[in-house]
Amino acid sequence: MRAFQLVQAQKPPELREVPVPDPGPGQVLVKVGGAGACHSDLHLMEAPAERLPKLPFTIGHENAGWVEKLGPGATGFASGDPVMVYGPWGCGICASCRVGMENYCENSGGLGGGGLAGPDGGMAPYMLVPAARFLIPLGTLDPRQAAPLSDAGLTSYHAVKRSVHLLGAGSTAVVIGVGGLGQMAIQMVRALSAATTVVAVDTDAGKLETAKRMGADEVLLSGEEAVTRIKDMTGQQGAQLVLDMVGIDPTLRMAAQVARVLGHLTIVGLGGGALPVNFSSPPHECSVASPYWGSLPELMEVITLAQQQKIKMLVEHFPLERANEAYQLLHDGKIQGRAVITP
Ligand code: NAD
Ligand code: ZN
Repeated sequence: MRAFQLVQAQKPPELREVPVPDPGPGQVLVKVGGAGACHSDLHLMEAPAERLPKLPFTIGHENAGWVEKLGPGATGFASGDPVMVYGPWGCGICASCRVGMENYCENSGGLGGGGLAGPDGGMAPYMLVPAARFLIPLGTLDPRQAAPLSDAGLTSYHAVKRSVHLLGAGSTAVVIGVGGLGQMAIQMVRALSAATTVVAVDTDAGKLETAKRMGADEVLLSGEEAVTRIKDMTGQQGAQLVLDMVGIDPTLRMAAQVARVLGHLTIVGLGGGALPVNFSSPPHECSVASPYWGSLPELMEVITLAQQQKIKMLVEHFPLERANEAYQLLHDGKIQGRAVITP
């Protein structure tokens, strides 16, 4: 089969011929329906060799498909079942893994998962999943449509859910950067909380239009005027929750300016910026967190929300041969929701 692989650091991935894997004990072979193109892959492609796992490996950490073949001893699924693949693969037995937070496995160095940390991911017709517990039944959802829920959906869900207690009636949530993840974050605030106002901030007017359709009340172009507007909207207090889905110096600075005392400033974007910190900025007792992905039970909840049609992902499909083009479009800000590769 042909797989879209990162072969050399800082070089575009290549389509290469690789064998179809045979599932060993406990493993499951999944026929990939869709593999989302996440901005994290772009960070990965731009990273120097010393920050990368062993090359080559197949890109794609946002995957859904159908069970193709169960390895000896793997149970719980039958061939043909539509499934979501949970991305961060932990050891399964440490304290974090035992509560389903395999994203914070104590033994995988904090970065498990196929397509991101070395094991082959989903941009190939078939993908080997190490254990059946990483598969979640999709029910009536189409894997080609649902794939981005496993990261864009799950990461946004987790980032919002941990702050829901702050989002009572009358509260404000700000989402900075409304691409693949940010559009989901807006919907998660709507689905999970009583927040009165959701503000979307982006540098791209088209993304802001989409954000409105996804439930944002107010959309603002990134910059000083957005800060002033958010302060005015909140009686100069700032927002209870600020999600920075970009994570570069200017957005982190903005996030600190628009968060409120006792609020949450949550950094999801891996832009590599630094948050300036002094005694009164971020505001007093505003907690700062940088969550990574989400838990297995949370992914089940995200799938339930999608089944109930409370969240939707804008998806644009690309065949495997056009994967590099999809990433170029993502890099140029030309993907409105999520590009999904359909191998
Ligand atoms: P994306 O390219 O789809 O969206 C990024 C958005 O940010 C775009 O709409 C872009 O116009 C906007 N943007 C860029 N500069 C901006 C600025 N100065 N102000 C406001 N908006 C700006 O990317 P994505 O796939 O949604 O990923 C977003 C970020 O989240 C990436 O850095 C990615 O690596 C990271 N990520 C983190 C996790 C995690 O677990 N923490 C998981 C997945 C992705
Ligand atoms: Zn573990």
